[in-house]
Amino acid sequence: MEPIDLASLLSDSRSDEPGQSQLERRDFLKICTLAAAAVGLPASAASKMAEAAAAGPRPSVIWLHFQECTGCSESLLRTSHPALAKLILDLISLDYHETLFAAAGHQAEDALAEAMEKNAGKYVLVIEGSIPVKDGGIYCKIAGKTALEIAKEAAEKAAAIIAIGSCASFGGVQSAPPNPTGATGAPEVLAGKTVVTIPGCPPNPYNFLGTVLQFVTFGTLPELDAKGRPKFAYGRTIHEHCPRRPHFDAGRFALKFGDEGHRQGYCLYRLGCKGPATYANCSVMHFNEIEGAWPIGIGHPCVGCTEADIAFKVAIHDTVEIDRPTPPDQYPPVGADHGGVSPLATGVAGLVGGAALGAGWMAAKKLAEADEDGTEDS
Ligand code: SF4
Repeated sequence: MEPIDLASLLSDSRSDEPGQSQLERRDFLKICTLAAAAVGLPASAASKMAEAAAAGPRPSVIWLHFQECTGCSESLLRTSHPALAKLILDLISLDYHETLFAAAGHQAEDALAEAMEKNAGKYVLVIEGSIPVKDGGIYCKIAGKTALEIAKEAAEKAAAIIAIGSCASFGGVQSAPPNPTGATGAPEVLAGKTVVTIPGCPPNPYNFLGTVLQFVTFGTLPELDAKGRPKFAYGRTIHEHCPRRPHFDAGRFALKFGDEGHRQGYCLYRLGCKGPATYANCSVMHFNEIEGAWPIGIGHPCVGCTEADIAFKVAIHDTVEIDRPTPPDQYPPVGADHGGVSPLATGVAGLVGGAALGAGWMAAKKLAEADEDGTEDS
């Protein structure tokens, strides 16, 4: 696997290829490169993405909304670096998305039917929100059809299926006991089909972006864990690469919000942190490209939103079992087959992480820096 050289990526993405202005081509390549690096794809992926986008019709994406708050869409499209949303819209043809659609009613329904027919067997189906199954699924209906019927129909002709967010992945908050509508995730409803799950409430946009980019460019899906989550993002627990881990190992805990330990940035386990049982990359892939913008980073315990058995089921301030109380002699490599180990690139002292995690951290940081000084081309 080709190693990722972020420094060169950020300084040398020029191209004189005809057919596109140098600025557009350069910006486009840079965005592709940063996005690829963020999720651990090789540097060569960027040019392949750009080529794929220029070569022909963009892959069709049909995005369905069911029981949800639209936070996943918002998280994706309101990143602080607007180019990320642009990248997605440049690379794919978003043929149906209720939140972004100007059309409504019959027009929207016709567009969905047309997109499914025209791109049968080729489109990427994205499902946002849980699907109620109780009483025949009557608790979520659109245009007279249940979410259950719509999901099954759309999945039938899809080339790939992605469940974005915790609701679509396993039911989310709607499935919290007593789960009055029988809300569940797309994998259960579409049993027998491969459904990539990107849980999180909301999920980090990079995790979705990486999956889509890999599929539209290479026609493959990332390696998944038993719950359908891409290993590049969900291969390790938050506790394994948490910047507060040295405090945990030394027995220094915050006991109350605002106490001395909390002000000192001590471990939040005693306040209910679910990091030891939660698989996600939040600690190295912060939100909105802002360093420290993630729950534990701002002093709140992890609530385990990517875990079906924890999120909305275990009380926020209850503690989880620690299955590995002592620090390991050596951390395992990140599960994703996306490059070699690059501990220094993480920028987190004492952290031993893989290139996917480290590159993601640096890419997000560089994007933020570029925005700050207005020098995207630097
Ligand atoms: Fe970080 Fe939570 Fe683990 Fe403490 S318990 S080290 S705050 S993940």
